[in-house]
Amino acid sequence: MDKSSFFNPEFETLDRKQIEALQLERLKATVAHCYNGSAFYKARFDSIGLKPEDIKTLDDLRRVPFTTKQDLRDTYPFGMASVPLDKCVRLHSSSGTTGNPTVILHTQRDLDQWANAVARCLWMVGCRPDDVFQNTSGYGMFTGGLGFQYGAEKLGMLTVPAAAGNTLRQLKFFKDFNTTVVHAIPSYAARLYEVMVEKGIDPRRDLKLRTLVIGAEPHSEDTRRRIEDMLGVKAYNSFGMSEMCGPGVAFECKEQNGMHIWEDYYIVEIVDPDTLEPVPDGEVGELVLTTINREAMPLLRYRTRDLTRILPGDCPCGRHHKRLDRMKGRSDDMIILKGVNIFPIQIETILMQFKELASDYLITLETLEDNDAMTVDVELSDMFIDDYAALQRLEREITRQLHDEILITPKVRLVPKGSLPKSEGKAVRVKDLRKKY
Ligand code: AMP
Ligand code: ZN
Repeated sequence: MDKSSFFNPEFETLDRKQIEALQLERLKATVAHCYNGSAFYKARFDSIGLKPEDIKTLDDLRRVPFTTKQDLRDTYPFGMASVPLDKCVRLHSSSGTTGNPTVILHTQRDLDQWANAVARCLWMVGCRPDDVFQNTSGYGMFTGGLGFQYGAEKLGMLTVPAAAGNTLRQLKFFKDFNTTVVHAIPSYAARLYEVMVEKGIDPRRDLKLRTLVIGAEPHSEDTRRRIEDMLGVKAYNSFGMSEMCGPGVAFECKEQNGMHIWEDYYIVEIVDPDTLEPVPDGEVGELVLTTINREAMPLLRYRTRDLTRILPGDCPCGRHHKRLDRMKGRSDDMIILKGVNIFPIQIETILMQFKELASDYLITLETLEDNDAMTVDVELSDMFIDDYAALQRLEREITRQLHDEILITPKVRLVPKGSLPKSEGKAVRVKDLRKKY
């Protein structure tokens, strides 16, 4: 195997047996560290009579209680730390829509390890020190900013911390600094292209972009392909969350077939969200992660609420770290309409198959004459359709395909390009205006 294709060959090329041996060693150390360092975990363990020494095998992890976002809120701000605060050098906080936000603390070692994980991801998709990396994420509490910044620097790229928004300035930087790698959320990648078209910039002719890292929000395979076609790049799916540091948790390799989750950092479980029992490899369930390479605030069996599955089989890239499938969404994103469970990504998957449509859409749920109804507004692409009958046929065909997928009939409205509201952060895809009885 060619070692130069790995950033950390000694960890990336471990076989399954070696991964599991390392995980067990790190799990035991993490559990003991939590028990001895965190009043929260000590109380949790004591309440069920569990001692760190009881964890003798990886299967014993199932004896450990789950940790939830509510636990983070209840112990806000510092109640879950496993080290004294004077050992911590940074915190990130994600704003909750309700109640307390959550806080994640980091020691310097945590930050170094996090940067290493991000550098490993970027190296895996071909980034090298002669690349120029531009980050369009917000800096600050959102981990996509500093997380990618330190990872890209660790790899040795010239970094452009452009931060979010100001699309014209982003484009100028692409040109002036010969940017080759961009990190953007998928909805913003599409926006960048729109503005390029408006300004007469042809990315293939005028820019050096080669690699795009897209993540932070669910998107379909068709959305990825579209973005690749628009910008003339290879786009790689990047998964992370603040509770697990941020980016660098799981990332696609060049095969673009599932995201390797770094199992020397995390133990992954997929459980049935109702029974909390493990589901077999290959079946969709809730992702549960245990950090085994963190100091300030390790999390044991953290329920992420994200729904995905482990892809069966080996990856030709030579890494044996398990691969997660594209996220199906979060269990809290699920729409329940007329008793039917629907994920926004199911709707996106259908919409993005129509070349007449652009990538922005909005699902509105409302109560009309005491009945709950769904409207899907979707922007038309640049293709000009001036034939009213053709537009109607298109609307009908989209409605039919959506009905086949989600089993209810939404009202589909084709709207002009650029007319749906744009958000600077993660795209807002669902507006729920239903009357709550
Ligand atoms: P935050 O902690 O604010 O960065 O948000 C983390 C959440 O963003 C995750 O729990 C996922 O729901 C979502 N997310 C992050 N990356 C992806 C991705 N590549 N695909 C789908 N959802 C993602
Ligand atoms: Zn691979």
